[in-house]
Amino acid sequence: AKASGRNNYQFFKEAMNLTAARHFELETSLRGALAADEFELYFQPIMDIGTRRLHAMEVLLRWRRGGKDGELVMPDQFIPIIEENGMIVPIGEWVIRQACKQSMLWQSQGMTPVPLAVNLSARQFMHRGLVESIRAILDDTGIDPALIEFEITETALMQHGEQTLEILGHINAMGIRLSIDDFGTGYSSLAYLKRFPVKKIKIDRAFIKDLEQSAEDRAIVAAIIALSNSLQLSVVAEGVETEGQYALLQRHGCQFAQGYLFSQPVPHVTAQLLLPRC
Ligand code: C2E
Ligand code: CA
Ligand code: CA
Ligand code: CA
Repeated sequence: AKASGRNNYQFFKEAMNLTAARHFELETSLRGALAADEFELYFQPIMDIGTRRLHAMEVLLRWRRGGKDGELVMPDQFIPIIEENGMIVPIGEWVIRQACKQSMLWQSQGMTPVPLAVNLSARQFMHRGLVESIRAILDDTGIDPALIEFEITETALMQHGEQTLEILGHINAMGIRLSIDDFGTGYSSLAYLKRFPVKKIKIDRAFIKDLEQSAEDRAIVAAIIALSNSLQLSVVAEGVETEGQYALLQRHGCQFAQGYLFSQPVPHVTAQLLLPRC
């Protein structure tokens, strides 16, 4: 038993070193990724539950590591690294700019735009220049601010409440709408979050996943929807994968749904096929 214990420890250590090595290797190749134009935006539809029509699209970042024919790296592999080393600031700014450019391009090609929801990290709020760079992007691209939304996680709002409140006030004043992402995971109350200028909350997939099997999850989701609606907040359910989940959400008065039931995140060439033409 002792020997195998030692082996397990050895194995664990090697696994740890591998992870550290992988982390280092990713971080190194991430350094040149923005300049080498290796990032891509993917888009995932957010549907209106009542009409089953497209309501908005969430913008999700992908890294085409090594360029054109490189592997597609998912955000959970690299967002934590760039949040930690601060590269999220220029990369996050690129995401906002690119989303605005894409929307303007679609509009110029005769498509009816839907709002694009862009994720913002807590780290981006800590950066003084955020509001100014958003203003510059709006000016440069000429986009209607009503066509951009920002998603901020519940946890980020809780951790940096006071500082964030002021910044969100500026963003809101520019006409950009704000949503609370991953709601339900941070144990905050909607009453507290109501202090922020938000219009929408997104219920985390963790509560949607077992909606059909779990009476408890159904009770939580129903309560979130009811309270949100009484506070004039609209609700998006994340990670909707089945018709059963969809029907339950509809019955409880949830307005919007996002998930594999409708579409996975797709590249812009596919996303544009989902947009209605003017
Ligand atoms: P998120 O903001 O909660 O985004 C939703 C995630 O759930 C996406 O993963 C999406 O592909 C996935 N998803 C959507 N529908 C379903 C479903 O029905 N089933 C399942 N199993 N998953 C579903 P993705 O694209 O891998 O992104 C992961 C996270 O990375 C995002 O979570 C967000 O926190 C972060 N992220 C992505 N793009 C950006 C970005 O541009 N900036 C920042 N700061 N964070 C980003
Ligand atoms: Ca999000
Ligand atoms: Ca989310
Ligand atoms: Ca999430």
